[in-house]
Amino acid sequence: MDILKNLQTVNDRIKQAAAACGRSEQDITLTAVSKMHEAEEILPLLQAGHRVFGENRVQEAMRKFPALKEQFPDLKLHLIGPLQTNKVKEAVSLFDVIESVDRIELAEKLAAEMQKQGKNLPCFIQVNTGEEPQKSGIVPRETFSLTKQCRDLGLNIIGLMCIPPVNDEPAPHFAFLKKLAREANVKELSMGMSDDYDFAVQQGATFVRVGTALFGERNYSK
Ligand SMILES: *Cc1c(COP(=O)(O)O)cnc(C)c1O
Repeated sequence: MDILKNLQTVNDRIKQAAAACGRSEQDITLTAVSKMHEAEEILPLLQAGHRVFGENRVQEAMRKFPALKEQFPDLKLHLIGPLQTNKVKEAVSLFDVIESVDRIELAEKLAAEMQKQGKNLPCFIQVNTGEEPQKSGIVPRETFSLTKQCRDLGLNIIGLMCIPPVNDEPAPHFAFLKKLAREANVKELSMGMSDDYDFAVQQGATFVRVGTALFGERNYSK
């Protein structure tokens, strides 16, 4: 597994997908999703100059990232997984961006904790574009009102995030998220994973979240 070669490949594909639709690659940030991978696999990317990472569990990120951030102070860590209110304090202290704001109670806790810690972290609203019962995220029709409520609380909402249903064609979900973002008056779109990030770029993604295509398959039996 040559992680640096994978990084090159993913960046090249982002560049090609951007060029194909007349966008600049600089408008797209690659979030390297390092969940289930250890520091020794993350380090080569940092040493090669990559700085943006995504983790979906607060506990796991607390174990791996404080030391990495000490070594690379400009590292930006995104929380991309569901956040329980009892983990808000740790999340606000460790992460630089929260991508999974999906309910008002969480937004209230985040706003209060950020004020306490003197931070105003950029946040995304997670939208459950497929309205899947088991998936977190706000239902699409509530995107506008949750965005407004979050802003009224003082949260810095910069965009929307989605994870399309596994068996759906992703492109219509990406296009839908873009439409919702326009209506909610937010600019950033976090969408696209290893199997579909080039489609997401075509549909306007400004952040793509790629794990497997960089680090290889995750070993859930470990
Ligand atoms: C794991 C995960 C990813 C990355 O998925 P890959 O298919 O490995 O690229 C992206 N977004 C979220 C929210 C994830 O949990």
